[in-house]
Order: sequence, then C-alpha cells, then structure tokens
Amino acid sequence: MDATDLDTFVDALIDDLTPVPAPDEGRTLFHLLDCPRRVIDEQPLLAVLVAAVTARNLLDHVVAQAVAAAERAGIPARKHLRSGADLLTSLGVAPGAAHRAARVGRAAHTLPALTQLQRLGGVGIEFADAVGKGVAHINNRVPLSDEDRAGVVTTLMIQTTPSGVGKKAREIAIAKAATAPQDDGTVPVAENSDLNDMTVVQTDDGRVAVSLDLDALTGEELLAALDPLCRPVPLPDGTSDPRSTGRRRADAFGQIMRTYLSGSQRPMSGGVLPHVTLIRPAAPGFVDTLGFTGPITASTADLITCDSTVGLVTVDGAGAPLDVGRAERLFTPAIRKGLAVRDGGCAHPGCGRPVSWCDAHHITPWSSGGGTSLDNGVLLCRLHHTAVHHGGWQVYLGADRHPWFIPPHDPAGPEPAHLRSHNRRTMTDLPTAA
Ligand SMILES: [Zn+2]
Ligand SMILES: [Zn+2]
Repeated sequence: MDATDLDTFVDALIDDLTPVPAPDEGRTLFHLLDCPRRVIDEQPLLAVLVAAVTARNLLDHVVAQAVAAAERAGIPARKHLRSGADLLTSLGVAPGAAHRAARVGRAAHTLPALTQLQRLGGVGIEFADAVGKGVAHINNRVPLSDEDRAGVVTTLMIQTTPSGVGKKAREIAIAKAATAPQDDGTVPVAENSDLNDMTVVQTDDGRVAVSLDLDALTGEELLAALDPLCRPVPLPDGTSDPRSTGRRRADAFGQIMRTYLSGSQRPMSGGVLPHVTLIRPAAPGFVDTLGFTGPITASTADLITCDSTVGLVTVDGAGAPLDVGRAERLFTPAIRKGLAVRDGGCAHPGCGRPVSWCDAHHITPWSSGGGTSLDNGVLLCRLHHTAVHHGGWQVYLGADRHPWFIPPHDPAGPEPAHLRSHNRRTMTDLPTAA
C-alpha cells in the first residue's frame, strides 16, 4: 500500500460524503450522517463510529511513523526546515498536533508493545503520546532497563485517559526513586532542580496557562512568597472574601510579577528594564495590543495606561511609532508620596492593601483631560483598580478631598450610598458634594 492506495481510499470517502438527492436504496455515508432514520440506522451509525475511530488511530500512527522516517532520512533539513514537526505544519497541521506526531513517531521504537497496539488501530495518538511522555518522565528520574520499560508501558496502558497515564507515571517515578539504590551524594528527586520545568502556553481564547514542576526548595520559595499575598480580603460590608483559594493564589502571583516589574534591581533586556508593552494605534479601527499576548479591549488598555508600570508605544495606521509615552502622564514619586499619606494603601472601602501593592489611578482619565495631580489620583490595589475600570465601581474626590466610592448599580435605579475610602472608614460625616 502506498500513497496511491491511500488516495483511492480518500477519493472514495469524499465521493461518499458528497451531498446528492436521497436515493431509494443504497444510502451513502452522507445520507447516514445527514438524515439518520430512527432505530433503523442505530447499528450502521455505531458501526461507522467504531470504524472511523479505528481508521483515525491508524492514520495518526501512519502520520507519526512517516514523519519520524522523514526525519531519519534527513528530509526536513534538505527542505530547510528544523524538524519533522515543521514539515507537518507546512502541510497545515496545527503546531501542537505536529509536535505530538513527531514525538510519538520518535518514541515508537523504544515502546514496541505500544506500537504493536497502535498498528491494530486500538490506541489513539493522545494516549500513545501520554504513555511516551510518562515513560520519559520515569526514565528521567530512574534509568529504566528494556525489561523495566516494557513493564511500565503495560502498567500505563491499563489507564483509561491520557491524564490518568500522566498521574500513574508520576506515582511510578516516585515509587521507583524511593527504592532505587542511592549513591552517596545523589540528589533526591524532590530536591533535584535539573528536573524543574515550566510551560507557558496561550490558550485558544487568548488567556495564558502556566504549569510548574519545581524542586522542593524553589517550591518553598514560591509558597513563602505567595502566602502573605493570598489572605482573604473582606468586602466593604464586612462579608468574607468571595474569591476561591485558586483565584487568590493567582491574584497573589500577579502581585509578585508587578512588584518585580516595578523594581529596578533586575536584568536588562536591550539596555532597558523589560516592562509590559502596550501598542496603542492612533488611527481608528485598530485595536490595542500587548507585546506578548496580543489584542486587548480598550478598557483593559485604559487600566494599563492609568499607571506608570507600562511602556506605551503609540503607532499610526501602518504600525510606525508616533510617540513613546509622555512623562507628565505618570504620577511623580512626590505625588505618590502624597497619595500614600492620604490613602494609606488601597483606598477601596474595606481593602487597605499596602501602598507598595497599589497602582495610582487617574480619577478623570488622562485621555479625557484629567491631570496628574494629588486631587486626580487615588491608590488602588490591582483587584480594586480592575473593579473601577471593569467592574462598574466609580470613584470621585469628595469635598473633604478624600476619595469616595459608588458601588456598581443600575443607572435607572436609585443610587446606592457612597462609601468612604478605607483610610477614612471610621469617620461619620457625609460627603457634601458628589
Ligand atoms: Zn485606573
Ligand atoms: Zn484594594
């Protein structure tokens, strides 16, 4: 069987999926999928599903093996490509799937039992990849003999899902490491920083997903840094913090990043301290873009430009820079000091997070003519700065020259009571101006 035979199969399948008027007899696959008949078509449909899944497994196996063979034959290099995965992406395969196929193809010869099952169409590529990764994970920690490897593959193949395989592999690695003879001076797995790993991927919806695998000491440092920043903060009315533990941990991690980025004792990149970069088009019809993660809404861009920890680049319609940020937009250290004395930390009622955690928010935005002065600034932690820009909270400077807050409300309904800033929570007089 060669490419011609596969082409024949593909042509027959395309023919059978082509919409044609319903015949009296001899229904095609198109009719079965397009207008299944109740009860009569149950068996044929289930049979199609089983056969199609088997065919998919077999074809994925052929792709993986073919790409590994192409690598062994030096084809990618002759086409000026870095790897077999690049060869697949050049054929329109998504990068994640291309790398997975190349990985599974390369690992096949070390996993004969698995490969044998793949050749019968019984193993999906996601599952084969999980087994290959699991074996590599264990082998990194405890070198496996061929016999050990075969045993591990058998154990992993009993699992029913790829994530189950990963979990089982970690269990086996820990168990094997615990019983492996330790030479004097060998670093235990838990403390071996050579095994550390961090993946950062942008998801399809534009979020960023991170996973970490750390040695005990680095993990301890992470937890020690997060711990004081993770504490619940009660709402203005005294009810408990509604954020889940995971959410509070993520917020705390964001705080650590911002504190780090606002410090000056850190490595330079191209002669400047790396900062968040916001690219703001001057021409209408284009959207704001972040340096690494791409397009963002105008309200998030407003939040970022509200404070100084950002490199703002304004570009024209063709992407040429017009302006690299105006210094007078930023709160000076002197004004920040004044804000720190007045607000004493995050001004949001009930919050009071320390000054060093806070952004200085422009009460009237710079873009709407608001100046950078003590009376147009308010200190807000990132959670409450976001609540003002995204969450419908309003803030204004009262007649007492302190910030006052209006909770989110329906503009058609009655306005809720205005709330004092955290630093003034024990005062009792009402604002005289709004
Ligand atoms: Zn702001
Ligand atoms: Zn706050």
